[in-house]
Amino acid sequence: MTRKLASIQEVYDISSIDGADRIQKASVMGWNVVVKKDEFREHDKCVFFEIDSILPDDKDWAQFLQPRKYRVKTCKLRGVLSQGLDLPLSILPTQKDWQIDEDVSELLGVVKYEPPIDAKIGGVTKGTFPSFIPKTDEPRVQSSGYLLRELQGLPYCITEKVDGSSGTFYRDEEGFHVCSRNLELKEDDNNAFWIVAKKYDLSNRLPIGIAIQGEVHGPGIQKNRLGLKELDLAVFTAFDFRKGKRLSWSDTEEICNDVCVPIVDVVEVGDSFSHTKESLLELAKGKYRGTKNNREGIVIRSRDAVNSKRNGSPISFKTINNDFLLKEED
Ligand code: AMP
Ligand code: MN
Repeated sequence: MTRKLASIQEVYDISSIDGADRIQKASVMGWNVVVKKDEFREHDKCVFFEIDSILPDDKDWAQFLQPRKYRVKTCKLRGVLSQGLDLPLSILPTQKDWQIDEDVSELLGVVKYEPPIDAKIGGVTKGTFPSFIPKTDEPRVQSSGYLLRELQGLPYCITEKVDGSSGTFYRDEEGFHVCSRNLELKEDDNNAFWIVAKKYDLSNRLPIGIAIQGEVHGPGIQKNRLGLKELDLAVFTAFDFRKGKRLSWSDTEEICNDVCVPIVDVVEVGDSFSHTKESLLELAKGKYRGTKNNREGIVIRSRDAVNSKRNGSPISFKTINNDFLLKEED
C-alpha cells in the first residue's frame, strides 16, 4: 500500500489558539494541523498534505511557502504542534465532487522527501528487489487509524525504530542475496549491507527459504543517532518466502538467536493491545540507549502476524517521536 502524500480529507474539531488571530488549529485524519483562520468550517473537505510532502515549485498555490520545493514538516506555531498542511479544494486544477481519501499527489505534482543517500548504502545494482518478498514500509498511526483499531485486544509487540537504512538478506537454491530498500546489490566490500552480511556470516548461517529484514545503521548512515562505532544490523522481520508469510515475533526471535544476529529492542509486549494514539505518542518518546539523541519512534505489530482486514498485510504501523520530528533538519 503506497502512502498518500496529498489526499482529500475532512477538517474537524476546529478551535482557536490563545493569542493568535490569523490561525486556528484543526484535526485531519489523526493529525493536528494549524490552518489559516476562517479558511475552513467544520466538516469541510480539504487537500491534506502529509509531512514529508515536497510541493511543486511551479504552481501558484504553492508560492506562499518558502523556500521553493517546500518540504512539509512537523512544527510548532504559537506553541501548537502542527503536522501537515491543509489547503482548500480550490487549488485543485479540476472541480468535481471529490471523495474522502482520493489521492491527488500526482495531480498536484507532490513527491515524497527522501533523505540523501549516503555513499555507504548506495552500492552497485545487481537487479530489482525480489517480487516474492514484501518491501519494508510502515504506515503512520495518524494516517491509518484502522490498524490501531484492528489490533485492539490482540497479542502485540512494540519495538524501537532504528534510524538507519532497510536491508533484506536471503538464501535460495542459487545462493545468497543482499538487497537495499529497493534493489539487489552486487557483492562489494565497501557497501554497508554487504559489510553487515559478512559480519554475521549470513551467507552461511541463514536458513534457505527465510529472508531477514533489518535496519543497517552506524557510522556514515543517516546521523548515526545510536552512536555506534561500527556498522550493525537490527532485524525486525523474518519472512518465509516459500510460504509467502511473515513469521510470528517469537519465531523471528528464535531465528535471530540461531543465526546469531541482533534483533531490534523490544519496548513493550502484551497479550491484549489497548493503546490509544495518544499513549503510543507518549511511548514513542525517549532517547536511544546510552545517548542524548531522541529516538525516531516505535513500531507496533501484532505478535502473531495477524493480517489486517482492510489492507491484507500483517498488522503493523509506526508512531514517530514528535520530539524527534521537531528537531529534524533538512
Ligand atoms: P520509515 O523509516 O519512516 O520509512 O519507516 C519504515 C522503515 O522503518 C522500515 O522500512 C524499516 O526499514 C525501518 N525500521 C526501523 N526500525 C524498525 C522496527 N523496529 N520495525 C520495523 N521497521 C523498522
Ligand atoms: Mn527510515
